[in-house]
Amino acid sequence: MDNSILHPLDAGKMSDSELFRAMMDYAHEGIYFIDRKFNVTYWNDSAERITGIPASDIVGKISTESILRPVDSDGETITSERTALKMSMMDGKIREQEVNIRHRDGHCLPVLLRTVPIKKFSKILGVMEVFIDVSSRQKIENEAEEYKELAFTDKLTGLYNRRYIEDFIKSRMEDYQKRTIPFCVMFLDIDHFKLFNDNYGHELGDEVICMVGKACSLMIRSSDLFGRFGGEEFVAVLPGTNEQNMYVIADAMRSIVENTGISSNGDKLKVTISIGATMVRPDDTAESVMKRADELLYMSKEAGRNQVTTA
Ligand code: GH3
Ligand code: MG
Ligand code: MG
Repeated sequence: MDNSILHPLDAGKMSDSELFRAMMDYAHEGIYFIDRKFNVTYWNDSAERITGIPASDIVGKISTESILRPVDSDGETITSERTALKMSMMDGKIREQEVNIRHRDGHCLPVLLRTVPIKKFSKILGVMEVFIDVSSRQKIENEAEEYKELAFTDKLTGLYNRRYIEDFIKSRMEDYQKRTIPFCVMFLDIDHFKLFNDNYGHELGDEVICMVGKACSLMIRSSDLFGRFGGEEFVAVLPGTNEQNMYVIADAMRSIVENTGISSNGDKLKVTISIGATMVRPDDTAESVMKRADELLYMSKEAGRNQVTTA
């Protein structure tokens, strides 16, 4: 109901039942009644606002299908014998569910729907359905989800960021301590990256970072993690792996980067990375396993770069 046309309720010459109906027109919830013969006997103003269906189109009609026309995720109308309405009419139980319905103008919206049987002694006289539009709540939830994702995503590469990587390693450490599921941590760093920035500009430097991120991500499974730790450093975490597999995957990353390279004004530039990789050990903490991977990375650098060191 439009607030501007709201006026105090004048119960003057109304019977009790007329007053109750008028009161329900002031509710934010859509409310309707359907009797034992599936005849719609009442449809309030909010029901009209939420569905776009005016009371004049529906009151007095027989409706064995759900009046609210619930739709599935593809927008197809769900035609079920076991609608909440019919079930409640039969068993006299209250039901509550969130469903998507189709507005008269065609768009779909989520509603929280409560189906309440109305009994007189043990006889079911009919069913009342109360529903509220929850699209704004869903929008807020979706936005919160997006912000959460942004907080864990590196802007340049779209990979997981340092915060997420550290949380992920802590969770894997708990799995290891509670259920002895092993995992490995790899630290990767682009070799002589400063030269790309200095010789070809920061933009090309960014391209190199993105290429390395994309190429290495191809080498992992969906249960693994590959993220950007910061600058031109990356971290991979592989749960449920072993030492041999760890080396194979790390060397595949090293190799794909070396073979991919980057183009600049027709020149093909070689890019290489150095890697340190280690399996978790019984006395490790999240910090110690990361520190060891970083030290192994440093050893790869010392030994001439473009190589993998494991321990
Ligand atoms: P090394 O082989 O020993 O790793 O040498 P390096 O030149 O790669 O290492 P160094 O740590 O000295 O240089 C890293 C540089 O990365 C310094 C910094 O300016 C640059 N850098 C950090 N973040 C970004 C970024 O987002 N984009 C670009 N283009 N450069 C970045
Ligand atoms: Mg570095
Ligand atoms: Mg570097």
